[in-house]
Amino acid sequence: MEALRLVVIGGGAAGFFGAIAAAKSNPRARVILLEASNQPLAKVRISGGGRCNVTHACFDPKILIQNYPRGGKALLGAFTRFQPQDTVAWFAAQGVQLKTEADGRMFPTTDSSETIVNCLLKVAKTAQVELRTQAAVVAVKQLKEQKSASENANSGFEILLKSTEKILCDRLLLATGSNPTGYKIAQHLGHTIEQPVPSLFTFNVSDEKLTQLAGISVNNVKLNLLVGKHPLLEQTGSLLITHWGLSGPAVLKLSAWGARALHASNYQATLIINWLPQLSLEELRQKLIACRNDSTKRLIVSHRGVDLPQRLWKYIVSRAGISAENRWSQLSNKNLNQLVQELSQGKYFINGKGVFKEEFVTCGGVNLKQVNFQTMESKLVPGLYFAGEILDIDGVTGGFNFQSAWTTAYLAGTAMAK
Ligand SMILES: Cc1cc2nc3c(=O)[nH]c(=O)nc-3n(C[C@H](O)[C@H](O)[C@H](O)COP(=O)(O)OP(=O)(O)OC[C@H]3O[C@@H](n4cnc5c(N)ncnc54)[C@H](O)[C@@H]3O)c2cc1C
Repeated sequence: MEALRLVVIGGGAAGFFGAIAAAKSNPRARVILLEASNQPLAKVRISGGGRCNVTHACFDPKILIQNYPRGGKALLGAFTRFQPQDTVAWFAAQGVQLKTEADGRMFPTTDSSETIVNCLLKVAKTAQVELRTQAAVVAVKQLKEQKSASENANSGFEILLKSTEKILCDRLLLATGSNPTGYKIAQHLGHTIEQPVPSLFTFNVSDEKLTQLAGISVNNVKLNLLVGKHPLLEQTGSLLITHWGLSGPAVLKLSAWGARALHASNYQATLIINWLPQLSLEELRQKLIACRNDSTKRLIVSHRGVDLPQRLWKYIVSRAGISAENRWSQLSNKNLNQLVQELSQGKYFINGKGVFKEEFVTCGGVNLKQVNFQTMESKLVPGLYFAGEILDIDGVTGGFNFQSAWTTAYLAGTAMAK
């Protein structure tokens, strides 16, 4: 009997992991991995600022899925079959150790994405995956064998390369990331593509006095994002002031959860910042009143009433309309209220999106209802599988995007090789 012929389109994280899983689970199968560019695993190489945030130290699938604005529900079952613990074990078995940082992100101990790239290249080679670079696929045709006058059975696929070469295969894994040709192929084969829009970005705020504070970060802020008539989104975490506006984990998470709404509003929104969420409004007020009573002669701008970086405090005092010359004894009740307001519910107008260089991802892709998450096989086209970013799945920053790629690719590769 002829060997099973499996083709994987896309030499990224998902394509490699899927091809390796297929080759390992059926060593008799022929596995061909087609990559459009001449550099496979390009995104892995630049990921995590060159360190590759491989996964996240979150080992409970129910908690893990809370990090996926899209796809969490569908991933629950998939994570019970292959989750971050399996990723750690998989890389360890190849001699690559991962370490966990304080915030849960996991990186190779070498702090170099090259370690992950080299590992995947090596394992693919050992497993006899046939890697073909500069092999851009332009179209896929489903082949049907006529069983009877009324019944057609799937009998594989014909893959057309840009070079006009045609490749035949029994089963096919589409792992083309957010590439438009991949979406086009999936759509041509009958799948619905949820509109692809960017996720994981920073917020532009046109406020020169704020952006002059670039580099200041505050560990624990509470953010509320108001986009048109959409329900308010909330995140707590670190905030970083940049030359263009605001970044940091809390902002990036909001950008992911609000990706669709923000896209629809052309990235115009209101951000409400509570700079001191650990204090209740009353506690905050009492702290400021204590300054007014005890530090009467000190300048408000130079004597901070609360635990915030000095330059940020000065900026907030000015936003509250308080003169730089005013001393604490001169703080009127009106000014006190304005200061409480600015510290606990400061309003900032977002007028665009910026780039988060360490990680970005596309929200949208193949509709998840059309995919069987036990195997990642299409429910519409037998023998066709999906993995990675081509699916309508995306996570917040922290290694969750690679984890969904490893998981979906592992399940797809294993299933397609059977
Ligand atoms: C700068 C940056 C940093 C990131 N850092 C992290 C991180 O540290 N941690 C994390 O979890 N996530 C990170 N991400 C997200 C992560 O890279 C993606 O979620 C992940 O790469 C998706 O893998 P994939 O294999 O599905 O797609 P991709 O990595 O995009 O791979 C798709 C591959 O398919 C090929 N291809 C496309 N179309 C065709 C075609 N028609 N024919 C043949 N080949 C084709 C492409 O050339 C590409 O090589 C980062 C993303 C970026 C942009």
